[in-house]
Amino acid sequence: MSRYRLSPTLEQEVGLLEHCAHARFVWNLAVEQHSCWWPGRAAAPGYFEQARQLTEARAEFAWLRAGSVMVQQQALRDFAQAMRNFFAGTHRRPTWRKAGRHEGFRQVSVKPEQIQRLNRKHGRVWVRKVGWVRFRWSRAVPNGVKSYRITHDRAGRWHIAFAAVPDPIPAPGNNLIVGVDRGVAVSSALSTGELLSAPGLTSGEQQRLDRLHRALARRQRGSKRRGRVRRAIARLAARITDRRKDWVEKTSTSLARGFDVIRVENLRIRGMTRSAKGTVESPGRNVRQKAGLNRGILTNGWGLLVTRLEHKAFGRVEKVKAAFTSQQCSACGHIAPENRKSQAVFQCVACGVTCNADVNAARNIAAGRAVTARGALQPLGGAVNREPQLAPLAL
Ligand SMILES: [Zn+2]
Repeated sequence: MSRYRLSPTLEQEVGLLEHCAHARFVWNLAVEQHSCWWPGRAAAPGYFEQARQLTEARAEFAWLRAGSVMVQQQALRDFAQAMRNFFAGTHRRPTWRKAGRHEGFRQVSVKPEQIQRLNRKHGRVWVRKVGWVRFRWSRAVPNGVKSYRITHDRAGRWHIAFAAVPDPIPAPGNNLIVGVDRGVAVSSALSTGELLSAPGLTSGEQQRLDRLHRALARRQRGSKRRGRVRRAIARLAARITDRRKDWVEKTSTSLARGFDVIRVENLRIRGMTRSAKGTVESPGRNVRQKAGLNRGILTNGWGLLVTRLEHKAFGRVEKVKAAFTSQQCSACGHIAPENRKSQAVFQCVACGVTCNADVNAARNIAAGRAVTARGALQPLGGAVNREPQLAPLAL
């Protein structure tokens, strides 16, 4: 997802705001329907039922009919996706969109010729019922853009974000499985023993960020100078996010090229960020990083890595239950909290194996073991020799 500054003319702005209003109206209708539902009642209408109701509403209200049906349908689809995310436990329940605060709409089935470069600094995009709208070509537009989202923020700025789903990369056919663990000391560890670290803040950037935060605390609320400091912080955050995204693209491509099956933790990101300390069953990880700016970036980075892997290694990503991966020995299967000597070191109290704690967790994930509370191992699948094999440790 890459975001660009959109510069509509005054006339176009009216049309864009209308799309926003329609999308918000349809979204809020869906929220209302779902908030009326409670257990025992008939199920709240799903997407298809809502799409039918939308057709009726369009027949009834001229102002809705005047808008783009695609924009309105897409708002329903977005809502359906938001509900799925909510039930999956990764997101909160979708809520009301407020005028002037959450303004935006999505456009799908975008054709390649609908995004054009005009010169070095500008491009234009075709928006239904609005026409060609210029945007700042601040970086390369990804290939294969299928949809975009246009948003209007509270400061009155317009942005466009292009979403491109990359083409799947064919499996290498080497019959190898890799496990990827969201690490503590590094960003992720592979079951092959490789440690990957996503770029974060450089020490210079960290110093600058600290300085900006101190400056922010001194400025008066609502003042112009405070606004300037806030923008400087936002720019710094954006730079790090871009760097992280670039790392995600490279890492996901190399994993999709290198292994037939990629196993990752099936983690609930929301739960992870809410409770840093965790529970006895799933002890908190990344406790130290769960502070400040780095937290959001790390969390987003991991979620994005999994999403990209699912695009690129289409049908080859398996999500594994994550309980005990950090306490269990990947060699003998013994589970004990004492196995974890420190954040970085794992030493099994039963068999004595010592290795990097994140790599140990990654090997458990790669093995795809469903672990019972008593610690018995249950390998997934049947005949082991016909299953893809664990990629060996490369030390
Ligand atoms: Zn052991």
